[in-house]
Amino acid sequence: MSLNYCEIQVKNLEANIQSFKTHFKQANQPNIIIAPTVKSNAYGHGIVMSAKAFIRGGADWLCVHHVSEAVILRENQIEVPIYVFGPTGFDELDLIVKYDLRVVVYHLENIQRLENIAESMGISERIKLHLKLETGNHRQGVEIDEALKLAEVIKASRFLRLEGICSHFANVEDTTEHHYAKKQLARFQEMAKILQTHGHEIKIKHIANSAASILWPDTCMDMVRIGISAYGLWPSKESKVVAQYLGNQIQLKPALQWKTKVMQIKKVGAQQSIGYGCTYTTTHPILLAILPVGYYEGYDRGLSNLAYVLIRGKRAYVRGRICMNITMVEITDIPDVCLEDEVVLLGKQGDEVISAEQVASWANTINYEIVTRIAGHLPRIAVE
Ligand SMILES: *Cc1c(COP(=O)(O)O)cnc(C)c1O
Repeated sequence: MSLNYCEIQVKNLEANIQSFKTHFKQANQPNIIIAPTVKSNAYGHGIVMSAKAFIRGGADWLCVHHVSEAVILRENQIEVPIYVFGPTGFDELDLIVKYDLRVVVYHLENIQRLENIAESMGISERIKLHLKLETGNHRQGVEIDEALKLAEVIKASRFLRLEGICSHFANVEDTTEHHYAKKQLARFQEMAKILQTHGHEIKIKHIANSAASILWPDTCMDMVRIGISAYGLWPSKESKVVAQYLGNQIQLKPALQWKTKVMQIKKVGAQQSIGYGCTYTTTHPILLAILPVGYYEGYDRGLSNLAYVLIRGKRAYVRGRICMNITMVEITDIPDVCLEDEVVLLGKQGDEVISAEQVASWANTINYEIVTRIAGHLPRIAVE
């Protein structure tokens, strides 16, 4: 048992994927590979549970950041194609072969090592590589000259196949003004054409994340790597506004609630300070509830003296600083609070809702960070 846990509405995870399926069918793009990303413990939602829900919802592939995440999926009997889009170390490359994974490449060193591993293991099927192209994010991609060289090396190999080319947008979700993203898309298409004219037939071209998949059909091509939206969260306020403006039909249903329990109730007199740094001083006698959650569990210290939680359907404000494992909230105006009462840190209780976006705005960050940083050791419990 745990005092601190997440409830995951797995039906909503399924529904989000189904909504994308329907959307692409209606847009006459029914063959797009839907590849939700389950990196970072499935954006905090629990990797295995989320992966299985996505597959039930109709996901074709899964994306992960690191090969270790793919190994967890394979060890849990998940057999759909898995694409590893983050960096892989030299001594991890054998796992790509062993677990039949697709992997991003962007330098000769990993390509040559994969070739040697494949040869020594005597594999029957070629290893499927996706070459990352530089279009303006300046993270992993390579420029066209380098891309052509790497594509030639792959083509000359008996053990490798260039299955895909990909890139990543820098700012589709940060703005309603998409000239930079348009430039990236045009650059990608131009590079794809150059590769093709040099005899490299590429089966799977992909560049779209959530915001691009939702707002911009031209970017979807052969595969979409949807992350945040698969969990029912919008990539940003801007993307939600633009989607509504365009009459987009995609339905996103959040699936995660984060809960804890009241561990202690105490009276505090007037003119008393609460917590480390004495950052909150009472003006009158109050009632406090002590909660077993803090920044170790992922409840951001930036929420100190700002956030509220829900107890008995009412708002209980954080008083003083968030500690490592403990938080104090005021319950003076909430009648009948008892020990072990349910506390909602993120989610719904009664008529009140605390969204990931609300928590993000208190903590001065984005919804992505709020959910992914909920500590991995807290149980994720599947609920209806
Ligand atoms: C995380 C990630 C995605 C998904 O992005 P969302 O905005 O969460 O949809 C797609 N592609 C790559 C390379 C990523 O790192």
